[in-house]
Amino acid sequence: MIPEPTCVLCGQATKTTEHLFMLCEWIKQIWADPKLNIDITPLNIAQMDKWVCAFLTSKNTMELKSFFGGAIWQIWKGCNALVFQNRKPNPRAILEDASFITQLFVRWNQQ
Ligand SMILES: [Zn+2]
Repeated sequence: MIPEPTCVLCGQATKTTEHLFMLCEWIKQIWADPKLNIDITPLNIAQMDKWVCAFLTSKNTMELKSFFGGAIWQIWKGCNALVFQNRKPNPRAILEDASFITQLFVRWNQQ
C-alpha cells in the first residue's frame, strides 16, 4: 500500500492542492497578510480552482489580483525549494517576492 503524501510544510496533513495552497496553517500566514487579508477556513474554501476564479473575477484591483497570483506562484516555489533544496521557505520572503514580481508585472503591462 502506498502511503498518502504528507504536506511538506507542516507534516501533519495529507498533501492536497487545497491544503498546500490554502489550508495549511503555515500558508494561512501568507493569506492573512494585511495586503491580502484573505480569511481561509475549510468552510469558505472547498476547491482551489473555484477560489482562484472567484478572486480573479471579483472587483479587486488588477494590482491585488496580480499580487494574489504572485503569492500562489511564490508559495509553489517555496514548497519546491523545501523539497529539492531542503531550504525552509519564509512567509515574509514569499510575500516580498510576490510583491516584487507584482510590481514588475504591473509596470510591464501598463498601457
Ligand atoms: Zn500543511
